[in-house]
Amino acid sequence: MPGEGRRDGCRGRVYIVGAGPGDPELLTLKAVRAIREADVIVYDRLIPEEALGYAKPDAELIYAGKRPGRHALTQDEINRLLYEKACEGKTVTRLHGGDPYVFGRGEEECIYLRERGVECSVVPGITSVIAGPAYAGIPLTSRGVASSFAAATGREAPGKPRKAVHYGKIMKAVDTLVVVMGVGNLENIVREMLEEGVDPELPVAIVENATTPSQRVIEGSLRDIVEKAREADVKPPAVIVFGNVVKLRPRLWSLNGASGGAEKRHA
Ligand code: SAH
Repeated sequence: MPGEGRRDGCRGRVYIVGAGPGDPELLTLKAVRAIREADVIVYDRLIPEEALGYAKPDAELIYAGKRPGRHALTQDEINRLLYEKACEGKTVTRLHGGDPYVFGRGEEECIYLRERGVECSVVPGITSVIAGPAYAGIPLTSRGVASSFAAATGREAPGKPRKAVHYGKIMKAVDTLVVVMGVGNLENIVREMLEEGVDPELPVAIVENATTPSQRVIEGSLRDIVEKAREADVKPPAVIVFGNVVKLRPRLWSLNGASGGAEKRHA
C-alpha cells in the first residue's frame, strides 16, 4: 500500500548501490558518489573493502552480512533498518556486492521503501556474473561460439514447492550458463545436465574470488569438474561458467594477462 505507515519527517533517501565484484577499480563513479554522500552505509560481505574508504569520516557504517558467532541481519531487518534511518532524515547508501538487482534482493528493499513513501533509487553495479568470467579470460558470448547466455542461482530459496531452476534444460537452450552460489550444489547441477543429455565434454570453469588478488580458476568438463573442484577445495564466492566460451581462455589469457589485470596489479 503506497504511503502506508509513512511518518512525518521520513525525508531521508536511500540509494541501492552495486559495489562491483571485488576489484575496487570496478566501482562506478556513481557508486562512489553515493558512498561519499551517505550519512549511513549498510553493507554486504562481498563488497570491496576499499569502497568504505570513500565514506564521510562521521558516516555510520553498518555491516549486514554474516560474522563469526553472529547471524547476518535478515532481509526484514535490513528493510526496516533502511526505513528507520531514512525516517531519521538520513541519506542511506545500501551497498551490495556486484549488482543489486542480480541475485541481490535490492529490488525487495526498494519496493519496501517505496511502498512506505521513502525515496529510493538504484545504482547498477558490475556483476560477478560478467566480471568473474571476464577476469578469467572468458567472454560470455563470442562470434561463432556462443550467441546467448543465461545466469542462474545454484541455490534455490528453501521451501519452494516447485523446482525453479532446470539446469539441464537451460543448458540445452543457451550457449553459456553462469551459475552463482553454486559451489555447494555443483554435483547436483552437473548430474542434472548429464541426465538431460548435455555433452559430458562441455567445458566448465570455476572462478573463485574473482577480480580480487586471491582469484583462482579451475577448469574442466562436465565429466570431471566435480572431482577437480573437490581436489582444489573450491570455496565460495565463486561463479561457475558452463559453455564452449571457456575454450577461449588460453588465447585471452595470453592477450590480457592472467586475470584481466587484477592479479597483476595487486601482485
Ligand atoms: N549481486 C551479486 C551476486 C550476489 S549472490 C552480483 O551481481 O555479483 C552471491 C554470489 O555471487 C556468490 O555466491 C558468488 O557466486 C557470486 N560472487 C560475488 N562476488 C564474487 C566474486 N568476487 N568472485 C566470484 N563469485 C562472486
